[in-house]
Amino acid sequence: MSAENKFNSSVPVLLGVMGDPIAHSKSPAMHNAALQAAGVHGMYMPLHVQPDQLEAAIRGIVALGYRGVNVTIPHKEQVMQYLDVIDDSARLIGAVNTIVNENGKLTGYNTDGIGYVRSLKEEAVPQLEGKRIAVLGAGGAARGVIYALALEKPEQISILNRTADRALTLATDLRSHGLGDISGNGMQDAQAVLATADIVINTTAAGMHPHVDDVPVDPAWIREGAAVSDLIYNPLETRLLRESRLRGCTVHGGLGMFVYQGAVAFEHWLGIPAPVDTMRRAVLDSFEK
Ligand code: NAP
Repeated sequence: MSAENKFNSSVPVLLGVMGDPIAHSKSPAMHNAALQAAGVHGMYMPLHVQPDQLEAAIRGIVALGYRGVNVTIPHKEQVMQYLDVIDDSARLIGAVNTIVNENGKLTGYNTDGIGYVRSLKEEAVPQLEGKRIAVLGAGGAARGVIYALALEKPEQISILNRTADRALTLATDLRSHGLGDISGNGMQDAQAVLATADIVINTTAAGMHPHVDDVPVDPAWIREGAAVSDLIYNPLETRLLRESRLRGCTVHGGLGMFVYQGAVAFEHWLGIPAPVDTMRRAVLDSFEK
């Protein structure tokens, strides 16, 4: 039986996203549009789960016959203890955002970093091998993104963070897993690092709505012709991206990461290619509402 037939029966495929809060999530709009475009009879629900109900909610996936769920703030780390299998990359990243229910066996994946890199390659920089990459920020999002970038064999990854210790610790940890040349520094080294970086990636919250005039570094430090990527998608173009674009850089916004982390999750659940363009349109439409 093909994957398409398998999920096209009279029983709907049940999917959802667990978080607290959850009302603001764009995932239901994105995934319901994807299910429809792919011709899959199913639905994707926003599931408001408070931390003290997480274990019961995870058991509920099996009891209710959900095919899978996404997990978002604040459950991405805590949920790991309730799963049967954790994918190697999710274990290394230390967080799960996607769960697949295979006949009652729950497997956790992390699609954030892999989704980000797929978006970066498809939308801005097709080839990452041999590139010098500067990553601004050393928080939860940075960890998944750097892990996935390292798999692409860049020449070097330099992590720059406001709190230097956090950058150093993250670099040391990822290096200890054999992930290549990864260094960690404070922002005082940013100007020198950015002068030679081929790709600059902002994973900090600087510039996110409502602080839209903030920048994590002076955009003038980034060399002309470099690629500049920002994980932030509200606003769709941050000040960092706008000023970099005006200086002749290739720019890449955070909407793609959101869409592609969903696309990779969709493919884990259904085994068919995700309709990425439909998903992007659905998210943009939900912004306009
Ligand atoms: P986090 O774990 O709280 O880490 C925040 C990071 O930002 C830390 O490195 C922090 O530095 C730095 N930071 C915060 N405010 C700053 C400022 N004003 N100037 C310089 N550095 C600042 O958060 P996260 O989960 O990694 O998320 C970070 C960003 O990624 C957010 O904007 C989030 O919206 C975005 N994101 C996007 C997607 C997507 O799908 N596009 C997915 C996940 C996250 P310190 O260590 O010094 O505090």
